[in-house]
Amino acid sequence: MSKVLLVVLDGLGDRPIDGKTPLSEAETPNMNRLAKMGINGIMDTISPGIRPGSDTGHLSLLGYDPYKYYTGRGPIEAAGAGVDVKPGDVAFRVNFATVEGEGESVFDKVVVDRRAGRISDTDELEKAINEGVDLSKFGVEFIFKRGSGHRGALVLRGEGLSDRISDTDPHKVGEKVKRCEPLDDSEEAKRTAEIVNSFMEQAHRILESHPLNEERAKKGLPKANVVLLRGAGKCPHIPSFEEMHGMKLAVIAGTTLIKGIGRLLKGYVPDVEGATGSKDTNLENKVKATLEALESYDFVLLHIKATDELSHDGDFEGKKVFIEKVDRAIEPLLDLDFRDVCLIITGDHSTPVSVREHTGDPVPVIIVHEGVRVDDVEEFSELKAWKGGLCRIRGMDLFRIALDLVDRMEKFGA
Ligand code: ZN
Ligand code: ZN
Repeated sequence: MSKVLLVVLDGLGDRPIDGKTPLSEAETPNMNRLAKMGINGIMDTISPGIRPGSDTGHLSLLGYDPYKYYTGRGPIEAAGAGVDVKPGDVAFRVNFATVEGEGESVFDKVVVDRRAGRISDTDELEKAINEGVDLSKFGVEFIFKRGSGHRGALVLRGEGLSDRISDTDPHKVGEKVKRCEPLDDSEEAKRTAEIVNSFMEQAHRILESHPLNEERAKKGLPKANVVLLRGAGKCPHIPSFEEMHGMKLAVIAGTTLIKGIGRLLKGYVPDVEGATGSKDTNLENKVKATLEALESYDFVLLHIKATDELSHDGDFEGKKVFIEKVDRAIEPLLDLDFRDVCLIITGDHSTPVSVREHTGDPVPVIIVHEGVRVDDVEEFSELKAWKGGLCRIRGMDLFRIALDLVDRMEKFGA
C-alpha cells in the first residue's frame, strides 16, 4: 500500500503586499515542478476564517478534530519535552524566571525577568526541584522537566485534579507572581490550585538558595529563582495514530510543540541532529531522516518551523530566502516513486509578515500521487493554487483525500 508524506511549512501563507508574497516571490523550481506534476488547491486547516494555532492546525492535518481532542498547550509541550504524559495528568508550560522583593512568600515578589536572562543550563535546577519539592501530603505526584533554554514543563499526576485553574505567570515584568486560582466552583479546581501554590512556594525556596543561582548572582546574572506556570491542560484520552487511522506515524520536527503532538499520538519522533526549529536548522538532515522514516512508517510528517518564526518577525525577505532554502533541500523528494508515496506540500496556517500573527487566510496545497487529476497550476503559491483541481478544502478533508488516494479509506455504505 502507498504511504503518505506530508511536508508542512509552518505559517507558510501570506496576505499579499502590492500583490506579492514571500512564497510568490521566492524562486522555487522544485516546488513548482511538484505543482505541475500534481493537483493543487487552497486549504483552511480548521475551517474558513479560523486562526489555527500550530497545535490545533497539526491535529487537524493528522485527522484529529481539534475541537474534540485539543485541551491546551501544556500537555503537548510536556510530551514534547519528553514526559510520558497519561490521560488525566494536568500539564503546564514552564518558564524559569527572576523575581525580586522582600518577604517569605513567592507571591510577594515581583517578576523582573520572565526568562531569567535566557538561562540555558537548567539541568541542576530541574534535579533540585524533582528532589526537593514534596507534594505527597496532597496524594499527588509530579514530574518536572526542563525544556530548551529557559523553558520547561510540569505535570501533576493523581486523582481529582482539574485544569480549570489560572496561570501563576503574570505574563509581564514588573508584576507580582500570581497566586493560582480556581476558575470554577469545583472541589477539584480548588484543590489543584492549592497544590500548585504549594509547588510554587517550595520551588522558589529551593531555587533561591541553589548554588547555581548564588554563582549567577556573583557573576551579575539574573537568578532563575522562580518557575512561572501557564497553559494548564488536562491530558486528553486521545487515541494513538495507529488506533485511530491504522497507520504507523513518524514525525520529523525540531520544535517541542510538534514533537509533542507526535509523541501524544504515539508516533516515532527521532531527535534529528541539527534540527533546531529555527532558520539555522539542518534541513538536509531532516530530509534524510524523513526518507529513512518512509521506509518503515506509513505516514510521515516533515515539519519545518522557521517560515513561521520569520513571519512573526515581519521579515518578508528572510521568509522568502528561507523558502528558497527549503526548496533546494527537498530536491531528493522529487525522486520518490509516486506510485508508492503520496507527497503533500502545504502549511498549517498563514502567518502574514504584514500581520505578524496567525490568520485565517487559507494556505496552498499540492498533492502528488499516481492517478491524481493533474491541473493547470504551474507554480507553488497561495496566489495561484486556488485555480487547481482541489479547489478549497479543509485540513481534515486533506487527510481523508490522502487516505483515499493511497487506498486506505473504507467505503461509506454498501
Ligand atoms: Zn504553525
Ligand atoms: Zn506562529
